[in-house]
Amino acid sequence: MEAPGKERIRDNREVIVIGAGMAGLLTAFFLKEQGIDVLVLEAKEIGSGQTGRTTAKITSQHGLKYSSLIKSIGVERARMYAQANEQAIREYERLIRDHGIECEFKRVLAYLYTTQDEELLKMEEDAATLFGIDAFFTTETELPFSVKGALCFRNQARFDPHLFMSHISRELEVWEHTRVSAVRGNQVILEDRVLTAEKIIAATHYPFRNVPGFYFLREHQERSYVLELAGCDKIEGMYYGIDKDGLSFRQAGDFLLLGGGSHRTGQEPGEAYRRLTEAAKRYFPDCRIQSRWSAQDCMPHDGVPFIGRYSVFTPDLYVITGFQKWGMTSSMIAAMILRDELCGRQNPYAKLFSPQRVYGKASIGNLLLDVGMSIKGLYRGLFRKTPGRCSHMGCGLEWNPEEESWDCPCHGSRFSVQGKLLDNPAKKDAEIKK
Ligand SMILES: Cc1cc2nc3c(=O)[nH]c(=O)nc-3n(C[C@H](O)[C@H](O)[C@H](O)COP(=O)(O)OP(=O)(O)OC[C@H]3O[C@@H](n4cnc5c(N)ncnc54)[C@H](O)[C@@H]3O)c2cc1C
Repeated sequence: MEAPGKERIRDNREVIVIGAGMAGLLTAFFLKEQGIDVLVLEAKEIGSGQTGRTTAKITSQHGLKYSSLIKSIGVERARMYAQANEQAIREYERLIRDHGIECEFKRVLAYLYTTQDEELLKMEEDAATLFGIDAFFTTETELPFSVKGALCFRNQARFDPHLFMSHISRELEVWEHTRVSAVRGNQVILEDRVLTAEKIIAATHYPFRNVPGFYFLREHQERSYVLELAGCDKIEGMYYGIDKDGLSFRQAGDFLLLGGGSHRTGQEPGEAYRRLTEAAKRYFPDCRIQSRWSAQDCMPHDGVPFIGRYSVFTPDLYVITGFQKWGMTSSMIAAMILRDELCGRQNPYAKLFSPQRVYGKASIGNLLLDVGMSIKGLYRGLFRKTPGRCSHMGCGLEWNPEEESWDCPCHGSRFSVQGKLLDNPAKKDAEIKK
């Protein structure tokens, strides 16, 4: 739905959610279920952000997550992370069943696999089972090559996120093609009008407001690539390779999604599509590439998303970000936490995901790395070492030959060949010198 004409505007809402991706829509849906008057504002179209390009595995299996979280945030918080994500899978199932949402939801097995050294998987198995996840180690998979080992989580799921979003957004008031240029106190500033809300939720993927909150110091973005293959044998389980250059496999109807080539946005993509194409031909000689795309996600320093109050100085502004390429369960967790927060209820996971949490020592290395990258990017921008400067903070843009775009290595904004804005946190186009 487009924004209505000025004369028909109700300019005061209980809640405004900015961003109609999975996080914004689910959160708005849960609030509406509580009888709250909620409006969603979307700069482009529903699902046109990263959610439109996800592989949509609904899983608590987030790479070697639990062995790593135990080290970075401790056993008890790692346990909470596992429980929140397992609950999120169940919550999808409940929601889809209760509302009769036809979105090809299916419970499946999810595997991490290695062709090199199974030791890390064994450690992950110990951590996952410690937290009550139904997991087992195996060397048998459906993959078209042999593995050294695989760690399987039972009762995970997949669905069609487009069908799902299309259903839940029908129940919501969403204004598409409505970009928010700023939030001031309880005001939401649009191009041609100002709305007010008692509570505002920024579900814009990367937060667009720099101060307060300072999210530009707290996460960077990583990009990955996907081929949609036709003519392959079906693979029922979902697979994620933990080795360097590991691949991801996920069936979507008659197509197989083959993913990989992850890199920090703004850094050399290393011929991601060529490498994926070679892998496709090697493992599925008769396959045909139906389509291809890439997407990116925000990577917080301690490996835990930010869900909650934007900053201590903004009592009515909330944020959802930092999903590390696991945004399906994370969006559900965000929706549950913010529903409870806005309804004045305690949520057991709120503290773990709070943006006001204090970082552990293990995050400091990542923080320093990000600061270093930003200083380098700012230097390259200031001294015009590249043809374009990012309109977010002035970092030098780097060319991405895979997508033919100008990408920012500092915070991950992206622009077309001509400098048109593709991905935030930047809010406007960039100038590219010819
Ligand atoms: C290749 C790849 C594969 C992935 N696969 C999986 C997977 O299998 N499972 C999984 O759990 N996760 C996966 N993810 C991660 C997941 O896709 C994302 O975490 C999730 O989609 C992010 O949802 P979001 O709602 O936060 O962001 P988005 O979907 O990007 O939504 C944000 C919305 O905000 C809008 N917006 C931005 N700024 C403004 C503004 N100023 N005013 C108004 N609107 C604005 C945007 O237009 C956009 O529509 C994958 C990620 C990648 C990169």
